[in-house]
Formats: sequence, C-alpha cells, structure tokens
Amino acid sequence: MPMSIEVRTHTALHIVKGAIVNVLGEDAKWSTSAGVNGSHGRIAVEFNRKPTDEEITEIQRKVDQKIAEDAKIEIHQLSRKDAEDRWGDWIYDKFPLPESIQQLSVFYLPDWNVNACNKKHTETTGQIGSIKITKTRYRNSKQVLEVSYEVA
Ligand SMILES: [Zn+2]
Repeated sequence: MPMSIEVRTHTALHIVKGAIVNVLGEDAKWSTSAGVNGSHGRIAVEFNRKPTDEEITEIQRKVDQKIAEDAKIEIHQLSRKDAEDRWGDWIYDKFPLPESIQQLSVFYLPDWNVNACNKKHTETTGQIGSIKITKTRYRNSKQVLEVSYEVA
C-alpha cells in the first residue's frame, strides 16, 4: 500500500537530519524546529556557522545514498529511562519533551538518526521516494541552520 505524502515527508525529516549530523558533526545535533506541509518539509538545527556549498552538496548526496539503500526503519516502544540509557540525549530535540511522558516511541535508523517520535513513518527509507533539498538558510543571529526540501 502506498504511503501517504505526509508520512513520506515526515519520515524524510529524519533522513535529512541524519545527513546534516553526518556531514556537519555533533554540533548540529539539536533540532530547534521541524515542519511538514504536503510534499514540503523543513528542519532547523542549531549550528555555529554557515555551512559551505560543498557541505550542502554532501548533505544532499548522503540523503540520496540513504534512500537508495532502502534501509529498514525501526520503531522501538520503551520507557524513557531505557531509551536514555541506550541513546542518551540523542533521542531529544531542543524543544523539551514533557516529564509526564514516560513511555516513548522511538524512531531508530541505525548509524543515522534516533529520535523520540510518535508519528507515522515509512517502513524503509526507499518508500519515501526522493528528497530534494530546495533551500538552505543560515540565521546568524540565532545560530540556526534551516534546510527545506521537497519529496517526490
Ligand atoms: Zn518521526
């Protein structure tokens, strides 16, 4: 059954985020916001400088590679404590997860991205289709990098 465009575009957030951290390193690990609208998605991460054009090209290349791999996406249901023991603060974003939430659904794509997320995802990276980075913007005042993309 084909996945809805929202599910594909949402899953793409995790792929793009993984590629950003893969290329720019741990300094880019904190997402400050993320949004999906139809086939359009945007993710913002804290980062201490404007990335070079080469780095953006490399992020796109890594995204393409991960989709071509058709890697299996794992969803783990576990307690917050167990998730923290296993993945540390990598499961979190910059915006806090309320303390009242103690049972987590965790998106896990080995060696790529892990994130507490209770939304629906594709089963493999290939099911997303394609992801094209359409725009990047670095906000100096906030030290935030925004990456926009289209899923097709
Ligand atoms: Zn998700």
